[in-house]
Amino acid sequence: MESFEQCLNAVKDYCRLSEAETIYNLWLKGLEPVSYDDGKATLSVSTAFIKSTVEERYLPLLKRAFSQVMGFDIEIKIVSRAEMPGDEGEKSGAQSFGPEGQYTFENFIVGQDNRFAHAAAQAVAASPASTYNPLFIYGAPGLGKTHLLLAIKNSLTKTHPQLKVIYIGGDQFTNELIAAISSGSTEAFHDKFRSADVLLVDDVQFIGGKEATQEEFFHTFNALHNDHKQIVISSDRPPKEIKSLEERLRTRFEWGLLADVQPPDVETRISIIYRKAEQLGLKISSEVAEYIAVNVKNDVRQLEGAVKKLGAYYQMDGISPSIGLAQNAIRDILSEQQPIPVTVEKIVNEVARTYNVSPEDIRSAKQNASVSLPRQVAMYIVREVTGMTMERIGAEFGGRNHATVVYGTSKVEKLMQNDTRTKELIEDIIKNSKT
Ligand code: ADP
Ligand code: MG
Repeated sequence: MESFEQCLNAVKDYCRLSEAETIYNLWLKGLEPVSYDDGKATLSVSTAFIKSTVEERYLPLLKRAFSQVMGFDIEIKIVSRAEMPGDEGEKSGAQSFGPEGQYTFENFIVGQDNRFAHAAAQAVAASPASTYNPLFIYGAPGLGKTHLLLAIKNSLTKTHPQLKVIYIGGDQFTNELIAAISSGSTEAFHDKFRSADVLLVDDVQFIGGKEATQEEFFHTFNALHNDHKQIVISSDRPPKEIKSLEERLRTRFEWGLLADVQPPDVETRISIIYRKAEQLGLKISSEVAEYIAVNVKNDVRQLEGAVKKLGAYYQMDGISPSIGLAQNAIRDILSEQQPIPVTVEKIVNEVARTYNVSPEDIRSAKQNASVSLPRQVAMYIVREVTGMTMERIGAEFGGRNHATVVYGTSKVEKLMQNDTRTKELIEDIIKNSKT
């Protein structure tokens, strides 16, 4: 499969060069390899609508591209992931997680910070359109919104197979609408969405500022809601904060239930790490799990990424996860996903400015009382923001040992808990050092 995948990448490059970018992005970019066998390639796309368009318009191009890349002609079959049996098909628009990855309620780890959204999603899956309608789930990226929407879909497919459940991303809704308008098939577009029993719209914030899409979505929403059909929406922020969202849509989004997902606490992060490791068949010690949980905080996707990296090390070289490897994995993940690193220097300068001491003193081995608090604050922020190890932080601050850093950072943590002004001050410093 790996080489077929490479081959498909080359085919897609060919297509990209021979078509306008919007066309390519709309119809061809999402092609994924399913199988290749004896001159027959099967490729998947996310929806039945894209499948029919690709079949009608882009098969000759794909054939030509394959022939160029492989040196002979092949047969091509397109399938829609939304219609594929099993779990593979449910993943369109979401990051996949290994072959065992399943966006189900069973695989969703519940903690304080997502309990409410999880319960609401389960209630909707148990009896659609009779509890919360619409259900609006919001929260920062990587906290399980897509997972919950697809869990509703997966669960309904099992318990209410007669219902037509449509899952679509806000951007995909927009793309399909544009395509429908340009090909004069808006009627089919209306029918498709208005015939849903359950409509799951992921990342609805993408329709902000897009008038035609909002207009269309407004009517779809009303039609479904009047018919007592279930609507579930996710967004990276609450309706009030979606930029350029028409008031009438905002109001509708607030009709039902708003549920947020927040970053998981450390216990939940540890449970998630164990679950992801288990799915990969990877044994992970409690030290390593804790190490990852302490250093990766705000994004479950990153937690998952770290576990996946450890899984890959294990598969490639047979090395079991250790703290050292976890350190590498986390460093890779953080640098891949946070392209603008906040440097220690920036943080130290910002702290120095705030407390009116010199940056050199903060980083020195000096013991005087006037710099020790600012130094502890700086160490705390460095740990929070960069996820650096205690050892490295110690080295950055006058060669202090691990225990001193632990002591200093936990002192600052306590201060922040007991004193909101210190907390705000530190949050401001963090904000400033990120700009
Ligand atoms: P979002 O849509 O909020 O950006 P996703 O639902 O795509 O986030 O989640 C990112 C990844 O993290 C997915 O692979 C998902 O399965 C996983 N994930 C998020 N929250 C949880 C959780 N509570 N339990 C298990 N896995 C989770
Ligand atoms: Mg998502």
